[in-house]
Amino acid sequence: MSDCIFCKIANGEIPVEFVYRDDDVFVIRDINPQGPTHFLVIPTQHIASSAEVTDPSVWSKVVGRAVEVARQMALDKDGYRMVVNTGDQGGQTVPHLHLHLLSGRHFGWPPG
Ligand code: 5GP
Ligand code: ZN
Repeated sequence: MSDCIFCKIANGEIPVEFVYRDDDVFVIRDINPQGPTHFLVIPTQHIASSAEVTDPSVWSKVVGRAVEVARQMALDKDGYRMVVNTGDQGGQTVPHLHLHLLSGRHFGWPPG
């Protein structure tokens, strides 16, 4: 989508440093981190939100990559949180599916 910020990052219109990238998924650092480590795991294909996912392999790619990045960066040593915000009440602000991978501090439950 031409006016989507994550599509612009995916197609190189907005230059960023990729933490990981393959044909299906990329990982970047969140511009406004909510913890010492805050990555976004994003499918290259424009999918507006988790509610729009029809192909379950999207989840294996996104969640699988998040777990792999967490493992490679040793985030699993102290633990991490994965979050997918969906829609207005879910707190989604960028309408292109993404998974937050957060680590480096204690994240309470229930979330604030
Ligand atoms: P949401 O609220 O939709 O779940 O999360 C969107 C996230 O994208 C926010 O945490 C926000 O800080 C991040 N974000 C928004 N614009 C940009 C950007 O241009 N670059 C990066 N790296 N992160 C962004
Ligand atoms: Zn998009």
